[in-house]
Amino acid sequence: MTRVLVVEDDPQLVRALVINMQARGYGVDAAPDGATALRLAAARRPDVVVLDLGLPDMDGTDVIKALRGWTRVPILVLSARRASDEKVAALDAGADDYITKPFSMNELLARLRAAVRRTDSVPLVPGTALVTTDEFTVDLIAKRAGRAGHDVRLTPTEWHLLEILVSNPGRLVTQRQLLQEVWGTSHTNRTNYLRVYVAQLRRKLEPDPSHPRYLITEPGMGYRFEG
Ligand code: CA
Repeated sequence: MTRVLVVEDDPQLVRALVINMQARGYGVDAAPDGATALRLAAARRPDVVVLDLGLPDMDGTDVIKALRGWTRVPILVLSARRASDEKVAALDAGADDYITKPFSMNELLARLRAAVRRTDSVPLVPGTALVTTDEFTVDLIAKRAGRAGHDVRLTPTEWHLLEILVSNPGRLVTQRQLLQEVWGTSHTNRTNYLRVYVAQLRRKLEPDPSHPRYLITEPGMGYRFEG
């Protein structure tokens, strides 16, 4: 059973989420504040966390940072705030996806399925288990990236994007393919997410992130990995 931890202080929304998730076979724990969320995450080891950013006791971004200290569990952020600074801060802290309130339950459940699926691996092409460039290495079996002898810490979403790109060296992977595979959606308005995450990958992997050599943008089309 897939276990979800719902972190939300609005009891009506919690109730709606719990009913809908349980109806689809998820096991659900709910926490009304950040402290309870951190305690339950450690005790129950959920497969995915749905996290409201506006909590009574602490900022949701701090909950993400605390979780990322010890777990790569997918985190789907809920927020009434539309400010893109908030979104970027949550993504930077290690959130995997972001949905703005009010949202449709069907969309939330689709994102939830995608978040869980994202932790499963993509099929490997033989011979691509270890991808090496002059700057970094990507071990697709151990699921590790390294640079200058050190592990590069990647969030699950960053990892999934990188995994798809390096598994297709020299080939254009379209925005639609990436959105479908990583976020489970082909909504074209989410291409800004791709830009945010590719920029993060470049910061972590490219020698000169503003002039990428390895993670190449094909304007208006998609991205390409050049080994
Ligand atoms: Ca709230």
